[in-house]
Amino acid sequence: MTNIALRCLCALVATIVVAGSPAFAQTGTPVDPRLGCDKAGTAPAADAGEPDNIDLFKKRLLTYRCAAYENDIAAVLGNARKWVTARAPEVQRPAVVLDIDETSLFNWPRIYQDDYAYIPSTPGGRCDFTEVGDPCGDLDWQQSARAAAIGPTLELYKLARCIDQAATCTKVEVFFVTGRREQEHNKEMASVWTLRNLQLAGFDGIARDHLYMRDPASTGSVSIHKTAARADIESKGFAVIANVGDQKSDLVGGHAEMTFKVPNPFYFIE
Ligand SMILES: [Mg+2]
Repeated sequence: MTNIALRCLCALVATIVVAGSPAFAQTGTPVDPRLGCDKAGTAPAADAGEPDNIDLFKKRLLTYRCAAYENDIAAVLGNARKWVTARAPEVQRPAVVLDIDETSLFNWPRIYQDDYAYIPSTPGGRCDFTEVGDPCGDLDWQQSARAAAIGPTLELYKLARCIDQAATCTKVEVFFVTGRREQEHNKEMASVWTLRNLQLAGFDGIARDHLYMRDPASTGSVSIHKTAARADIESKGFAVIANVGDQKSDLVGGHAEMTFKVPNPFYFIE
């Protein structure tokens, strides 16, 4: 096979894996070599008596990502679904709050492609992954709307919205509260591409007023914005029975009966 043909085949596979069905819907590791799991071996231990080494640490992250991460997320969301199923019929106007990045949407293709670096944007906004090692800016990746759903969270969403559920299902409002800032990039607002990506990933039918974006001028911990958002949801008469996120800053501050923390060893949001 020629290099060009191989590249086309890889691009096709990447399209299927990155933009196709929910990220965790299939068992086994992703087939696209640019997603790294073909390189994940045994995690090397840190050398005793030595400070940790960033390259060894990245190898351990990759091993975790490919060996245990999806199962760990599925376990947390399994508990969340059980709780919502039991609690929703007991309260008036139940609601669930979901974080977006690494809770509802799976950004691993960008994270791995950028070698865990945070790059706000790249000239030309290219995030098509046609070349190994192409940098992909976070805003460009978001705007591309290529992120797949995190499967177990999509299951929770469908359970809450009574999509493909039994007739006895109790409908629950779902609000997305994100640290993404409501800003313009390439002449489009972040809320527009965020709703587009959620819809494409399978989170069907989210109204704009069910998406809380961060004020671009806000400073300090994102928990300030997120706590205020949940308080606002409560002020509209909803009972927030569950709040799901991948960062502690998603979950502190109260205004939720139960919190569910999914793992994210890849980055930290204060
Ligand atoms: Mg997140």
